[in-house]
Amino acid sequence: MGERNPGPGQAGLAVGIASGGLDSLLAVKVVQRLGFEVVALHFVIGFESAHLRGFIERPDEPARASPALLATGARVEVHDVRAGYLPLLADPPCGFGSQCNPCIDCHAFMLAQAGQRMRALGAAFVFSGEVLGQRPMSQNSQSLVRVAERSGLGDRLVRPLSGALLPPTAPEREGVLRRADLLDLSGRGRQRQQALAMELGVRDYPSPAGGCLLTDPQYCVRLRDLFARRPGRLLRVDDPLLLFVGRHLVLPSGAKVVIGRRDEENGVVARYAPRGLVFEAVEQNGPTAFLEGAPPDQDVLDVARLVARYGQGRGLPRVAIRVSAPDGSTRVLEVEPGTPEGCRVL
Ligand code: SF4
Repeated sequence: MGERNPGPGQAGLAVGIASGGLDSLLAVKVVQRLGFEVVALHFVIGFESAHLRGFIERPDEPARASPALLATGARVEVHDVRAGYLPLLADPPCGFGSQCNPCIDCHAFMLAQAGQRMRALGAAFVFSGEVLGQRPMSQNSQSLVRVAERSGLGDRLVRPLSGALLPPTAPEREGVLRRADLLDLSGRGRQRQQALAMELGVRDYPSPAGGCLLTDPQYCVRLRDLFARRPGRLLRVDDPLLLFVGRHLVLPSGAKVVIGRRDEENGVVARYAPRGLVFEAVEQNGPTAFLEGAPPDQDVLDVARLVARYGQGRGLPRVAIRVSAPDGSTRVLEVEPGTPEGCRVL
């Protein structure tokens, strides 16, 4: 690290993208230490487990940045980009990682938005917490170049944690940054990041594994199934939350039902009433279930029997299940509790 250390904000303004994970927090702190005021952009793509938990608990409130990011002292902006992001998932030009994670295109997408903020704010550069070699597909040297190109930022993009190992950027040529200002972190090890976190006073950061569900194998089983059901693989903004909750069973007909497992999940499932049929027992406690669209009678009967099976009436000969339609009409079916036999679990 160089000797320059002007006061906060004296070096100018820089825009960073920040997931709230350790690397992004360190990048923010490193750039702040160089004297830049940092505008930290936190993008909500819809697949962050922390945000989905927030949408379960606070359905009417916008997503929030993590306390750790707020604690950096950066000017944090939360941008909900779900509607713009979902079409990218249908067919990402650079492909997927090991699961449903289009990391190269995802980074480029976020950085392109950050470029717009940089220009609007008159900031000197955009930065990210990417570390050379940390992720085999999306953070090797070739991928870092692709991300910079695809985002439209080119050499206006700075990776402060690995910049000393990467080609010079425009801010370096212009004298806004010096090579000695940039670190030389690389590889998958976390020790240097942890030491830097101690040095920079970064605490309470999330574990590296906790975050994007697009990398979660179990979640991706559900997501791939949904892609196959959606024309053009186009998802809706509220699809990721429904994939996150409940039991997902594919009926013998091929239709899929989502059945809540806890009160909070039942509340989420019931929110999808405008898109299909909602089932619940009339007299016993039990799950709420959702079946999309206008399904045939046999599917409705199968789901009613499953709802009876997973509720407190499972030992009764017959259970009354209320079925509510999107137009507000309801009907009650008296059914024998069924079994999930013949259903495929997602
Ligand atoms: S892990 Fe998820 S949020 Fe992160 S770059 Fe990949 S797809 Fe995007």
